Amino acid sequence: MRIVKSIFLGLFLMLLIGCVGFTFWLRDRYVVPILTYHHVGIPSCKWRLNTVSEKSFEYQMSFIKRHGFQVLSFGDLVDGLKKGIQFSRNAVVIQFDDGYEDNYTYAYPILKKYHFPAIIFLVSDKIGSPGFLTWDEVKVMERDNVVAGAHTRHHANLPQLTLEQAKDEIAGSKKMIEEHLGHTIDYFCYPSGGFTESVKGIARDAGFKAAVTTNRVSLGLILIYMNLSAFI
Ligand SMILES: [Zn+2]
Repeated sequence: MRIVKSIFLGLFLMLLIGCVGFTFWLRDRYVVPILTYHHVGIPSCKWRLNTVSEKSFEYQMSFIKRHGFQVLSFGDLVDGLKKGIQFSRNAVVIQFDDGYEDNYTYAYPILKKYHFPAIIFLVSDKIGSPGFLTWDEVKVMERDNVVAGAHTRHHANLPQLTLEQAKDEIAGSKKMIEEHLGHTIDYFCYPSGGFTESVKGIARDAGFKAAVTTNRVSLGLILIYMNLSAFI
């Protein structure tokens, strides 16, 4: 009986030490979460995973406000990471992908209400077409710290393109957005998170300060989608 007790006590101590160790391990690996949105508004389909309702978006933003999270601009995140700044554990970044018109209609008024900065990565050749933002809408949002980044010309899967095609998609989107907005575009987002070392080099050569990707992290059977930064 004493042996059984000793075994249980040993296992308990091992578990306790493991938990404490894991907590410290996590603390050292803390990264600023990037909350990434696509559509905001009424989902056209109940199961559309890349849409959040206006009500839910409002709730999420009010949650951030009520609980005192610090919403960093994407630029602050990049600058801080390059300087090796230790961010507070309540820091978050808000990001939108693709440049859908509902971002202006539903998300922008809420972001403005809470004075939250955000970045919208635009698929440049889609801007102005049905369902997407117009250049004027992008300009209006930029006045309230909801700024534009580049997301290729056609939402291309970059690793599948030739280097010339990838260059056109990456540098072409930067050029087009800069021409319409009249300022430099510093940040890039890889469509569907896809990049290679060559693609990364093209983004660097195009003049971007940083690029962001979406990584899928597998924890056993659970697949977690995370935005991890691939800085260049
Ligand atoms: Zn996208």
